[in-house]
Amino acid sequence: MFLEKLQKRKEKKTNKVTDFTAGKTAGNSDGRNLQKKWQIKPDGEKKAVILKHAIESADAVVIGAGSGLSTSAGFTYTGDRFRKYFGDFAEKYGFEDMYSGGFYPFDSLEEYWAYWSRYIYINRYMNALKPVYEQLLKLVKNKDYFVLTTNVDHCFQKAGFDKKRLFYTQGDYGLWQCSGPCHRETYDNESQVEEMLKAQGFLFGESGEKEKLALPKGKKTGMRIPTELIPRCPRCGRPMSMNLRADNTFVEDEGWHWAAERYSEFLRRHRNLKTVYLELGTGMNTPSIIKFNFWRMTGRQPDAVYGCINLGEAWAPDEIKDKSICINADIGQTLQEMSETGVRK
Ligand SMILES: [Zn+2]
Repeated sequence: MFLEKLQKRKEKKTNKVTDFTAGKTAGNSDGRNLQKKWQIKPDGEKKAVILKHAIESADAVVIGAGSGLSTSAGFTYTGDRFRKYFGDFAEKYGFEDMYSGGFYPFDSLEEYWAYWSRYIYINRYMNALKPVYEQLLKLVKNKDYFVLTTNVDHCFQKAGFDKKRLFYTQGDYGLWQCSGPCHRETYDNESQVEEMLKAQGFLFGESGEKEKLALPKGKKTGMRIPTELIPRCPRCGRPMSMNLRADNTFVEDEGWHWAAERYSEFLRRHRNLKTVYLELGTGMNTPSIIKFNFWRMTGRQPDAVYGCINLGEAWAPDEIKDKSICINADIGQTLQEMSETGVRK
């Protein structure tokens, strides 16, 4: 019931904001008009500093995060990370990045899970290379904050964000579900993924450190897992699938519903307060989940501010230009700049 309502509300929102996208862009928004209302420092200061001041004086911060945030933290799906762990698959199939291999219709589940166990492990259980999520936590940890994210890599939890303040709408690499699905539960996959990797010949660090996943010296890794390791639904025996929102088989488990409820509640409670909607690395792939809602809420709420950090894609529609601070730069670098700025006296 709750979900239906949420979905209907979502649809309404999406319809309403289509006008926004037709408007001119306001790439130069710098929050000038916020100065009066929020007593934000005068013109000429760097946008990162203005945004920091806005966050400091806000009653609440709603973070909306997309894949750009993890990219900034070093979670790239190409380059060294890809070549090191997927060299054999790249050679056999011509994949150029992890992502495209994830869509490949492998002939067997043994090969499919060999690919996916590596994918899950390095993107979910290994740590990000740069402390971007940690920097973000420093910025908001003393605020009343909530995070809405389309990322499925668990980086918020790993960096220490409060689990009760997170809503990851699109799933989690660390969870499996029945592919039917015959029931609406999800299952942690860490130990099974490790078994699959060991079966392919990968080596773990001596004390089991996650960062130490290594290739066997002098021999190739296997590209199949043993049939008995194929994960199957404990109820109906169908193969398990990733708990990722790709189609209508996606399982929204109890945890998902609680998080959805907490997010709605957070928005309700702060509707009339000074709120910063901080969008980080959200592209135009699924704008209706974060971007359009943030624009709409900023437009409607008299005391709201829209902040956006996104390399190459930071802009706001004209309607909220005066309440927006858009920073077209790397997220990690911008957060670093913000952390080097002293607290406003
Ligand atoms: Zn099942």
